Amino acid sequence: MRAIAIDGPAGAGKSTIARKLAGELGYIYVDTGALYRAIGYFCLSRGVDVKDETAVMGVLVGLHIELRFVDMEQRVFLNDQDVTAKIRTEAVSMAASAVSALPAVRSFLLDLQRDIAAQNNVVMDGRDIATVILPNADVKIFLTASPEERARRRYEELIGKGVSADYAAVLADLKKRDYDDSHREVAPLKPAEGAILVDTTGNELETSIKILSNIVKENLDK
Ligand code: C5P
Repeated sequence: MRAIAIDGPAGAGKSTIARKLAGELGYIYVDTGALYRAIGYFCLSRGVDVKDETAVMGVLVGLHIELRFVDMEQRVFLNDQDVTAKIRTEAVSMAASAVSALPAVRSFLLDLQRDIAAQNNVVMDGRDIATVILPNADVKIFLTASPEERARRRYEELIGKGVSADYAAVLADLKKRDYDDSHREVAPLKPAEGAILVDTTGNELETSIKILSNIVKENLDK
């Protein structure tokens, strides 16, 4: 099986670009952030403190998370309930970031991610795909952009969906997530050895897609 790993901070364009690349290659696109979001969402819905590892571990017992691929599109199931749409709020983003710092959560999700890559050709995006989950991925890309540009993209995406948003708050949340994700002890966000760094600041989406598509083609042929 072949694997393309794309890591990077929130709003760098990972999901849009990864989905497009997966479509071009006929691979499945795996959005691993959705797994941490599902756990964050579940904790919020149960009133569990997302920073309390013992409490979160209590929630993980008996929790069944599954990614199903319907027409190549990922859906997230929590105990057989489809939560794909519910995990996209800012509150869930922050909860996902908090639970993702807990070693128990990361090990709970490790095999699930590796099993998907063992059974499918994948474009997988996240924070630790090339560093921890799939260190032998065929192509490793670290995708980034300036915080202001990433916040602007996220803000416009929310407004486009008809969700009211405040740019300053989006930027502040994003910077906090960047800081927390890259300073945690387990699997911090950082480029893997051998990863190709791509900064998409100032690029049109189509340009970034082309850049990554070329990188993937060149490196898969090696
Ligand atoms: O990618 P997304 O913004 O949906 O991820 C939500 C949160 O989940 C991130 O801020 C990060 O803390 C966590 N995450 C992670 N490792 C991954 C994917 C996401 O820690 N592989």
